[in-house]
Amino acid sequence: MRSEFSPVEGFDPPALGEPYLLTPGPLTTAYTVKQAMLRDWGSWDGDFRSMTADLRRRLLALIGDAKGEYDCVPIQGSGSFCVEAMLGSFVPKDGKVLVLANGAYGLRAAQTMQYLGRAFTLIDKGDYLPPRGDEVGAALDADPAITHVIAIHCETSSGILNPVAEISEAAYARGRKLLVDSMSAFGAIPLEVGKIRYEAMVSSANKCIEGVPGFGFVIAKKNELEKAKGNSHSLSLDIHAQWAAMEKTGQWRFTPPTHVVAAFLEALRMHEAEGGVAARGARYMKNRNVMVEGMRKLGFETLLSDRWLSPIIVTFFCPSDSNFVFERFYELMKDKGFIIYPGKLTVIDSFRVGCIGRMDEHVMHRVVEAARQSLAEMGVASAAPPQAALAQRAKLAA
Ligand SMILES: *Cc1c(COP(=O)(O)O)cnc(C)c1O
Repeated sequence: MRSEFSPVEGFDPPALGEPYLLTPGPLTTAYTVKQAMLRDWGSWDGDFRSMTADLRRRLLALIGDAKGEYDCVPIQGSGSFCVEAMLGSFVPKDGKVLVLANGAYGLRAAQTMQYLGRAFTLIDKGDYLPPRGDEVGAALDADPAITHVIAIHCETSSGILNPVAEISEAAYARGRKLLVDSMSAFGAIPLEVGKIRYEAMVSSANKCIEGVPGFGFVIAKKNELEKAKGNSHSLSLDIHAQWAAMEKTGQWRFTPPTHVVAAFLEALRMHEAEGGVAARGARYMKNRNVMVEGMRKLGFETLLSDRWLSPIIVTFFCPSDSNFVFERFYELMKDKGFIIYPGKLTVIDSFRVGCIGRMDEHVMHRVVEAARQSLAEMGVASAAPPQAALAQRAKLAA
C-alpha cells in the first residue's frame, strides 16, 4: 500500500495516507525499515545476539575510532533514558557537571542532574544563543569542583548547531571531561573522536539513522565504561552493567525491543549504502537549503542566521499577518501531506520544519509549495515576521 501523495524519485513514499513527518524523530522511515519489523525474534537466540553485535559494530564504525578505545552500548527507552543513563553512569557521585543549555534539551539535562541529586551548575543561554568556548573556559576556571561538561550537539528546540569542537577544547585544556548529547545530529554530522575529544556521547534509533523509536545508544571510552561500575543510581539505566552483560552473553540485560533493533539494522545498512555520515549530512543539507530558500521567498524568516543553522531542523518565525493562525496552518499542511512541528521559543511565536528522515529535495520543493498554498488559503498576504522577531534575531549577530 503506497501513498496517495505522489511518489518521489529514488525514495519510497510513505504508506497509503501517511503524511511525511517533518519532525525530528519519530520521522519518516523507508518502507524496507518498516518491513524489517514483520518478524519475531527470540532475544536470547544466536540470530538476535549477532544482530546486536552487528548493530554495535556498525555504530562504532561511524566515529572513526582507529585505536579501538571506544565501545557502543545500546539502552532500551527513548533518547532521554540514554542521557540519564550517561549522566548517572559516568559522573561520579561526588562529581559536578557544567550543563550548557540553549533550549529544552539542555534544560532537560539539568533537570536530570536534579533528579540524580548530583552537583551541577548551569549556563543557560536562553532560547538559542550558542554557548561559546571562552565562556565555558571562564566557568571552569571559576569552579575547580566541576569534573564534567555536557553539551547538546544540535539543540533540536531551535535547530542550532552548537560549537562542540570549541567547547571540547575549552574543557580538555582544563583537564575536564566532555559528555555529548548528539541525539539529533549523530549519523548526519560528524563526531569523529580523532577530531573532537569526548568521553561519551548518546543518540537514539529514531533520529538521523532513520530507524523507529524504542532504544538509544551510548558510545563511550572503554576505560570510562570500566570506571562506571557501581556508579549508577539506577538498575535499568546502568550502562556498565548493560555493557558487561552484553560483553559476556551477547544479550541485552532486560527485554530488548527486538523489532526496533531489526528495523534499525536495515536503517544502518541504508545509511552505509547511501555513503555514511557525509552523504546523509549532504542530503539533509540539500533538504534544508531547498526548503529554507523556498520559505524565504514566501517571506518567512529563520530564527537563526545562516552560520548557526543546522541541516536537522529549522525554526521559522510565525508571520505577523493577523490571518495567520498556526493551528490552521498546521492542518492545511497536514491535508497536503506534511506534518510540521510547533515551535519551542518562549518569547516569540514560531514553528519548525525538520529536514531529516527518508526524503530528499524533491519532497522539500513540495513542502514549500504546500506552504505557499496554505498561506493563500488562509488569506495571508505576506509571511514576514513581526519587527520584534527580527530585533531578537539581531542579538545573535551582536
Ligand atoms: C530527541 C532528543 C532527545 C531525546 O528525546 P526523547 O523524546 O527522549 O527521545 C534528547 N536530546 C536531543 C537534543 C534530542 O533532539
